[in-house]
Amino acid sequence: MSVTAFIENLRAEVRGLPAYNAGLSGEFVRARYGVPHVAKLGSNENPRGASAAVLAHLAEFTTAGTLALYPDPSCGALRSLIAERLAVDPEQMLFGNGSEDLLAIAAHTFLAPGDEVITVIPSFGLHIIYPQSVGAEVVTVPMRADFEFDVDALIAAVSPRTRMLIISNPSNPVGCAMDASEMRRLLNAVSPRTLVLWDEAYFEYAADKDGYPDSLAILRESDLPWLLLRTFSKAYGLAALRVGYGVASAPELAGLMNRVRTPFNINQIAQQAAAVAFNDQAHVAASVETARAGREWMRTALIRLGINPARSCANFLFFDCREDAAKLAGRMLEDGVIVKPWREAGYETCMRVSVGSTGDNALFIESFERRRGR
Ligand SMILES: *Cc1c(COP(=O)(O)O)cnc(C)c1O
Repeated sequence: MSVTAFIENLRAEVRGLPAYNAGLSGEFVRARYGVPHVAKLGSNENPRGASAAVLAHLAEFTTAGTLALYPDPSCGALRSLIAERLAVDPEQMLFGNGSEDLLAIAAHTFLAPGDEVITVIPSFGLHIIYPQSVGAEVVTVPMRADFEFDVDALIAAVSPRTRMLIISNPSNPVGCAMDASEMRRLLNAVSPRTLVLWDEAYFEYAADKDGYPDSLAILRESDLPWLLLRTFSKAYGLAALRVGYGVASAPELAGLMNRVRTPFNINQIAQQAAAVAFNDQAHVAASVETARAGREWMRTALIRLGINPARSCANFLFFDCREDAAKLAGRMLEDGVIVKPWREAGYETCMRVSVGSTGDNALFIESFERRRGR
């Protein structure tokens, strides 16, 4: 049997699945365009990197740690540390090889073919791809024209038929965030048949902002099933190690997801590094301040160029560049600048740029100005 014939017999939702746009690596752009330096501003990575405490711990692990043993399948030490800080039952928690892993596990645990999932557009690609991979039907509610959440439209879209509502707050890619009263208003309209998946990948950047919701408290007030996700990839600067965590409304939900996941999904080095990172909140605070200062500098520079970025309380800016963003981003690669042109229908003139180091932010502005409008 040819591979084509074999593939024809597979599930239609897998055959039709779009690929996630993971962006280009710095190495690829350096080699392909012959540029000495790459400003990698397409993936919302932390320009400060990991904390010095994590680096010191890793150096020690490579000499003293054992690589022959399986990691702790329950992430026990990391679990107690985070559960205590968040004041949740450790049994409500679960861990993923990045929070992406938890998104996939949630889709496999809670969704069946034909189930309705509601999310927003522009969206974080995996909020659509994973539900689709298990045959769910994803309905996307557009953000408002001013790039804020359209809470009224979300409320109109949800019904007892909705199996899952997926929101990233702050929004990736837009950067805006729902405040506490909007979040309450939305949750009040959701049926208890719907699992609310609240993705706070950028929580640390927004947590100290006036009006930013205490999402855990608000989710707990509701009588809905919910899953809150956070990650070590962004403000903690550990994207390479892949650690995300979730808090579920009930230990029973976490238990189901634990049966679906692979048992050793967080490697031992990552578990230890995440625990060290979690205890270094000074590094997180410094990373958040770097992002805030760089973001406001970039915003001002873009406004000077006639561009109006969306409100952002995260480590990136999203804006309409009023031309084909993929082509513009392609030309910017020649300057060694990687950004993320948006590809979803209706948003092809938009791009998202991460806030990087001071030098890389300036390179982005220079390149954007030089390459635009052709
Ligand atoms: C970056 C990001 C994630 C994934 O983070 P990992 O923990 O690295 O898998 C999840 N959700 C959103 C909205 C993100 O932007």
